[in-house]
Amino acid sequence: MPDSLNRGKTVAILGGGPVGLAAAAHVLERGMEPVVLEAGPAAGHAVRQWSHVPMFSPWEYNIDKAAGRLLAAVGWNAPSGGGYPTGGELLAQYLEPLATRTPLKDRVRTESLVTSVGRVGFDKAKTKGREAAPFEVRYQNGKGPESLRADTVIDATGTWFTPNPAGADGRPAIGEHEVQDRLAYGMPDVLGRERARYAGKTVAVLGAGHSAIGTLIDLVRLKDEVPTTQVIWLLRGDNPEKAFGGGANDKLAARGALGAAFAKLVASGKICVEAGFKVSHLSRDGARLRISTGATCCGRHAVVDELVVATGLRPDLDFLREVRLSLDPALECPPELAPLIDPNEHSCGTVRPHGARELAQPEPGFYFAGIKSYGRAPTFLMLTGYEQVRSIAAEIAGDHEAARTVELVLPETGVCSGPGPLTNHAEVASGCCGGPAPAKADACCVADVEAKQEGKAGCGCA
Ligand SMILES: Cc1cc2nc3c(=O)[nH]c(=O)nc-3n(C[C@H](O)[C@H](O)[C@H](O)COP(=O)(O)OP(=O)(O)OC[C@H]3O[C@@H](n4cnc5c(N)ncnc54)[C@H](O)[C@@H]3O)c2cc1C
Repeated sequence: MPDSLNRGKTVAILGGGPVGLAAAAHVLERGMEPVVLEAGPAAGHAVRQWSHVPMFSPWEYNIDKAAGRLLAAVGWNAPSGGGYPTGGELLAQYLEPLATRTPLKDRVRTESLVTSVGRVGFDKAKTKGREAAPFEVRYQNGKGPESLRADTVIDATGTWFTPNPAGADGRPAIGEHEVQDRLAYGMPDVLGRERARYAGKTVAVLGAGHSAIGTLIDLVRLKDEVPTTQVIWLLRGDNPEKAFGGGANDKLAARGALGAAFAKLVASGKICVEAGFKVSHLSRDGARLRISTGATCCGRHAVVDELVVATGLRPDLDFLREVRLSLDPALECPPELAPLIDPNEHSCGTVRPHGARELAQPEPGFYFAGIKSYGRAPTFLMLTGYEQVRSIAAEIAGDHEAARTVELVLPETGVCSGPGPLTNHAEVASGCCGGPAPAKADACCVADVEAKQEGKAGCGCA
């Protein structure tokens, strides 16, 4: 279909994160009209919550090509490749200029919380003529309820604001709602904004993914500054080593470095490790928090001042009740995508780039994109999300061939559920030889692994 036939086609993009903004850039480039609805006061609202966290992928992997073209046209200086930005730097040097200095500035509506999506005149059960009916997206923007009609909807609302609960079975632990004042979800800025809350306290971190490891490393730094801080790592699994990632074999170098650094910290004894700890109950113990693995008073438990719950994220599907969806029963992602991203089988590096075909839903014209499209799987990379929206925009524009053609080649990584959002990794990893070698490597440390990979006898430290 020639692009001229698409002019005036309105594409509602839910969420103004990196992938939502990239979607808008691709839609605009195809001659269609994007409208981005962003719940927060500015684009990149979820990224702002983790602005203190250094990213595990360098600049070159964090900028969408169409977005880069929009920025270049307004005289933007691209950050030089190679460095690893923090979330805050990604915002300041890329997302904010994209949302406020390019033609997207007139297409991003902030403070616009999407509350429901439907098809005008059609409930979910009604079929005949459904495809021809426009979508209606309802949202709240402070002035009251608003609505937007659109030909197509791309849901890129992310998963940051719907974290998994503490309970080991995926449900909130019994009592979790009652002790919210002692809990933080995700990655609190323990060295910065929220230092006073954590300094000198006994703090448990629950989880074994990137966020948990980043927070644990930061807490150890806090302990170095305020020695009365106690750091406890609660993990459901029995094997802490699984969280150490691919070490020096990880091709996203920063992530490998984090795993090695973290292994070193655990070995140093600065973190008290409680493996096989399956939380079932949370309750008050005087002024403190009791974290229990069973209902009885005397079962395995920990008593702490604060608990950071870093057990992963899940998509918010509530506002899509009237949209015809088909989701994988385990991962809550589009079914075609599930085998590609399954964390039981895959790491970020083995997720094949994909596009509109895998992301399509039974509701014609409705697509998931970005980290939300992965449902509960933690294997998402921004670059893969940019490829998704390039393909979706081509498909909406009728350019099916471009939609099918996938050019992205991702770097291989070690273990995706290993370390990711780096926190002061360079500093932590700077000790002797970059930390211990991965468990199965025939080497004494990370530098030794690297030296042997280069054909040398070893790093010489042993
Ligand atoms: C700490 C951390 C570090 C990461 N580091 C990397 C990295 O180094 N490299 C990498 O490739 N990936 C990284 N990721 C993974 C991923 O790329 C990011 O999470 C990225 O922000 C996902 O982009 P997104 O646009 O899909 O979603 P988000 O960034 O989550 O954006 C979603 C947007 O939708 C808005 N929203 C939510 N609900 C609504 C609603 N109902 N109505 C309207 N708006 C709504 C939110 O406010 C938000 O702005 C990291 C993730 C985390 C958490």
